[in-house]
Amino acid sequence: MDDISKATLITSTAPIANHSHGGRAKCLQRLVRLKLPVPQTVALSFDAVHAIAEGYMVDVKAILSELRPDALLCVRPSSEDPDWGGPGAVLNIGMNDARYVDLSDTLGADAAAALYLRFVQSYAVHVARLDPDVFEDVEDGGPDALSEMLQAYEAEAEEPFPQDPGEQLAAVLRTMARAWEGTSARLLRAAKGAPEDAGLGLVVQEMVPGLGQGECGSGVLQLVNSQTGLPQITGRYLSQSQGRDALGSDAESIYLEQDDRGPSLEELAPEAFAELKVHAALMRERLRAEMQVEFVIENGRVHILDGMRVTRSARAAVRIAVRLAEDGIISAEEAVMRVNAHSLNELLHRQVDPDAKRDVIGSGIAASPGAATGRLVFTAAEAQASKSRGEPCILARRETSPEDVRGMHAAAGVLTEKGGMTSHAAVIGRGLGLPCIVGASSLRFDSRRKQLTAPDGRIFKAGETITVDGTSGQLLVGEPAMTEAAEDDALLTLMGWADAARDIDIRANADTPADAQTARNFNAQGIGLCRTEHMFFDPGRLTVMREMIFAETSSGRAAVLARLLPMQRNDFRELFRIMEGLPVCIRLFDPPLHEFLPTTTAGQRELSEALGLPVSDVTRRVEEMGEYNPMLGLRGVRLGVTVPEIYDMQARAIFEATLDASHDGDPVVPEIMIPLVSAKREVELVKTRIDAVAAAVKSERGVDFTYRLGVMVETPRAALRADEIAVHTAFMSFGTNDLTQMTYGLSRDDAGRFMSDYVQQGVFPEDPFHVLDVDGVGELLQLGAQRGRSAKPDITLSICGEHGGNPESIAFCRAAGFDYVSCSPFRVPVARLAAAQLAI
Ligand code: PEP
Ligand code: MG
Repeated sequence: MDDISKATLITSTAPIANHSHGGRAKCLQRLVRLKLPVPQTVALSFDAVHAIAEGYMVDVKAILSELRPDALLCVRPSSEDPDWGGPGAVLNIGMNDARYVDLSDTLGADAAAALYLRFVQSYAVHVARLDPDVFEDVEDGGPDALSEMLQAYEAEAEEPFPQDPGEQLAAVLRTMARAWEGTSARLLRAAKGAPEDAGLGLVVQEMVPGLGQGECGSGVLQLVNSQTGLPQITGRYLSQSQGRDALGSDAESIYLEQDDRGPSLEELAPEAFAELKVHAALMRERLRAEMQVEFVIENGRVHILDGMRVTRSARAAVRIAVRLAEDGIISAEEAVMRVNAHSLNELLHRQVDPDAKRDVIGSGIAASPGAATGRLVFTAAEAQASKSRGEPCILARRETSPEDVRGMHAAAGVLTEKGGMTSHAAVIGRGLGLPCIVGASSLRFDSRRKQLTAPDGRIFKAGETITVDGTSGQLLVGEPAMTEAAEDDALLTLMGWADAARDIDIRANADTPADAQTARNFNAQGIGLCRTEHMFFDPGRLTVMREMIFAETSSGRAAVLARLLPMQRNDFRELFRIMEGLPVCIRLFDPPLHEFLPTTTAGQRELSEALGLPVSDVTRRVEEMGEYNPMLGLRGVRLGVTVPEIYDMQARAIFEATLDASHDGDPVVPEIMIPLVSAKREVELVKTRIDAVAAAVKSERGVDFTYRLGVMVETPRAALRADEIAVHTAFMSFGTNDLTQMTYGLSRDDAGRFMSDYVQQGVFPEDPFHVLDVDGVGELLQLGAQRGRSAKPDITLSICGEHGGNPESIAFCRAAGFDYVSCSPFRVPVARLAAAQLAI
């Protein structure tokens, strides 16, 4: 016990380390090294504090001997990471009757009484654990109130208030040490990522009274604005105050810098203010971070009590890191490491202001980040009408289908009752950068009466204003304050540095020219997945797609395909043009039939008109084609094998567009991807036909070209048989949406209903459609990659499921040696930053 009983006086050479005494002790030592005016401080290590909690007491006399005998003391927590919290600071330890008399002489009776009173109050409530009601705030803090308070203490505690500073300090240390070991403190810090054995250090510091004659007071100062990260001296100061009082009493405290907001510290104590600025700048430079400085002014003299990293919004975090690097204080790579990749989402989308009041209607899965306010509508047609009136709207559907896509385009935000992270609404929402909540099953959707019922019984009717917060998954009443998205110069600079460090490529999933443009704007390195069936979500085109699916005769189908060909050729030409030589990977049709068959009467009527058939025929055929398990039915390559003319048409459109878009010496090399394969023979059949189409186009046009053929690995069998499948392919892209669905046997469209129960009960650590399940699905990925490479060492490997934009999943793919990940365009910046952080 000998060594832990020793508290360490903080000097420039004391053996203080972050992992043994905590961040605050470490920081104070740095301030001492910088020769800043820091009051004498003693640090207790994690071990010492743990021992105190267990019943052992450190040598309090030794601590007191390091500090001025007449000083009051404060004890503050020093955990490894300030975010993990800790017990509140206790001030004015050492205050007793004798010192009260002395201080009354020097500071005046009121000031001395205020100090004593504050200590008795906090000691009574937090240390002696007496009834807090008895020790509530006293209006008049003078000597009378003090004697009342001391009497109250004696009555409640059945003993006089302890007078011995050593006894007081020991009791405070014991209380704080035990508080750290308590269950609620453990749970709180575990939620913030602290390990089970996280330690607490304590620092005992001499206090400088912020009360007394001359200009006395306390405050905090920082050199940047916490919201924007731009240089701006901010903080508060309160005369005749202690600790962080200035922050708690907005009405009385004053600003620091002189401007038009009223009195300032600069006017009140110009020299102290100037000195503080110099100290803060030195701390920024030498502690290599923007710091909030906690200070006391004692009769005009400045003391620095503490420094903490400034709190910051995501936007401020980017600017602070970039400015520190531009000022040569940290390296560009360190700046990249300092920004949380997930937090970029906050910059790329409008968000509900963190300080806004939230009246929550209900919640679901946060499927696409950002926030949007609008009037509640229940159909795509109403959404379009609303848009044409210039009124933003929120489209609420039980689930969405291609018929709703035009409504989604018109809406400001989307809400669905059903579905999970990879449901139709979620995928389209992310692609459009549209705030979206799916699987909000605690709300009752009544599309007939056009109303939503909240779990608490409140009813929201069409036309009422609500807000979708797709970042948190909460649906809110009315229109809370928002913060705007900002893709500012600081972010561009940071992303440039990230790209220089990155060693895995980032492509985008982009289905339309608009998506491709977004992908380019976010500097994606190509298109990793163009879902061609999504090119037909446009209302004018959806019917053509349905006609093709519906065609019963080959001549009927040929006629529809002839109409589809020029549309597709134009689409592909546009994609190649926008991507300017960057790779474009086009996936052949994969329309799960339930997403494309018209289920509404209006949709069936539209199709019957297009086909010139009675509605009853269409209804019958929809029923005939309906599948029990559409996700496992006639989709992907199965459609390509059974109705090969469809893929023939697409291949022709791709090749013709390739030649149109190729310039001399700058040929386009398209990538064609076959979805949902599970057997080698499927690939052979499709490959033979595509090769034949290529040969035909080459001979018709008299021009040569090359293309790359690949497969999506989306079924467990494709991963297991990757060696024989790889023989025929140039690349394999893991479609982790379907692969997750099929590995778990968990419907992507229905999992939303019970996912939160599963995560809450710890069955799944996270939603596996959101964060890759590295143990199960991940093993299939590794196995498939390894088997694919064994057959074809130079095969290109990637993932293009929604996991491609998730930092943890990117780490997995990078470790497995993948060439690129592909994700929704709006997630590309997050992926670029996350990938860079892995490489640094
Ligand atoms: C996948 O399954 O992971 C995939 C990318 O394809 P889709 O989401 O279109 O099924
Ligand atoms: Mg798929």
